[in-house]
Amino acid sequence: MTTITRFAPSPTGSLHLGGARTALFNWLYAKNNAGKFLLRIEDTDIERSKALYTKEICDSLKWLKLDWDDTIFYQRRNVNEHLKFANLLLHKDLAYKCYCTKDELKKEKEDAIKKKIPYKYSGKCRSIKEDLKKKFVIRVKVPKSGHIELSDKIQGMIKVKYNTIEDFIIVRSNNTPTYMLAVVVDDNTMKVTDIIRGDDHLTNTFKQIILYNLLNFKKPNFAHIPLIYGSDGSKLSKRHGAQSVLNYKQENMMPEALNNYLLRLGWGYKDKELFTRNEAISLFNLKGIGKSPSRFDAIKLKNVNANYFKNLTEEELFNRLSEVFKSYDKIKIKQLINVFKVRAENIKDIEEGLEYILNEDIAEYSAEALSLINNANKQVFKTLIKMESLKEWNATFIEKFIKLEAKQKDLKVFDIAAPIRAAVTGKTFSPSIFLVLELLGKKVSIKRLKKFFLE
Ligand code: GLU
Repeated sequence: MTTITRFAPSPTGSLHLGGARTALFNWLYAKNNAGKFLLRIEDTDIERSKALYTKEICDSLKWLKLDWDDTIFYQRRNVNEHLKFANLLLHKDLAYKCYCTKDELKKEKEDAIKKKIPYKYSGKCRSIKEDLKKKFVIRVKVPKSGHIELSDKIQGMIKVKYNTIEDFIIVRSNNTPTYMLAVVVDDNTMKVTDIIRGDDHLTNTFKQIILYNLLNFKKPNFAHIPLIYGSDGSKLSKRHGAQSVLNYKQENMMPEALNNYLLRLGWGYKDKELFTRNEAISLFNLKGIGKSPSRFDAIKLKNVNANYFKNLTEEELFNRLSEVFKSYDKIKIKQLINVFKVRAENIKDIEEGLEYILNEDIAEYSAEALSLINNANKQVFKTLIKMESLKEWNATFIEKFIKLEAKQKDLKVFDIAAPIRAAVTGKTFSPSIFLVLELLGKKVSIKRLKKFFLE
């Protein structure tokens, strides 16, 4: 039987790290078993679901190269099928129409609080006569005795007594299916064999198993992954430095690095830290997923990314550059890549360097650079004027000249080099400024210095 996994996000927000990890695990599990990975957009919440988020989720998955098989399954399009099964349950007397009003339910809840017992719908409409004039919801008849067993692939065997589960709602009073019903019908329609998702769904799973049983559907395997928490053990959020997948893309993180980090967040294989895609596919299994929650570490993610980036070859870096840089001489660009990659943490850092070397003018000076220029020692100006008449223009020569100047004026080399760097690069960081001046050439260097110092 072909393994079929699925990722089933609700398009009510961006794709975050937890969702991306769920998608990755499902993708890897499918690939490891030579199966299929499907994408289902759970868009039944009409008010909160937005096409914009569907697009963002798909773009994020594509960026992570978690490509899905077949076409996207939109939950909303399967509503008739959901309702068909709800009616089948009604017809078989395995579900019933419940006419309880909000006030009646509120009263039941208040009574339970007074009696200090956990609230569960009383089931009083189970045997009530049909009333064609009243609004109703459809509830399933949860068996009264016995228990449900779940042999979870990560959490192990879990048993829950039926009598702790209420007759839950499968169709709302506006005749729309609830998540509980839709998810079971869809997973059955899509022939999903393995459901891997966050353990926040564990309580839903028991209700879903009840539906599988009542509907006579073949049950899939379940694997509930412990959630990701922040470094302080609280729910992961922005304040722990966690961002949406698209934000990481915008910050030029490498998708391979994010995938590797997410893979290691809760899953392990011996003490291996870095995995190529093929290694991840062949080694991934559910046994390697721990039972305890993972903690997100923004610094570690940054380091994993830096590690990936440092290992890119000159050619790979060249291929990642924006198109504009590809119209220049390739040999020259590769030479510059080697100059800038030493301090770079991502491709943008290299591109910023290329920009100030290749463009005639500097598009933008950082506030720090401008302040360095404004606060430069006045003695520096004299050195800069002399530079215009230098006979040679290469890194070694310029370095010697500036060092000598510094000594004569009783300044630190930095006092002269820093404002020069600010004026010719627009930044306060760069590779060796002597090398940058050489690469810029005398004409452009002097032109940029003149803008601030020489006239
Ligand atoms: N749509 C659900 C969510 O975004 C996931 C449902 C599932 O995986 O069964 O949390």
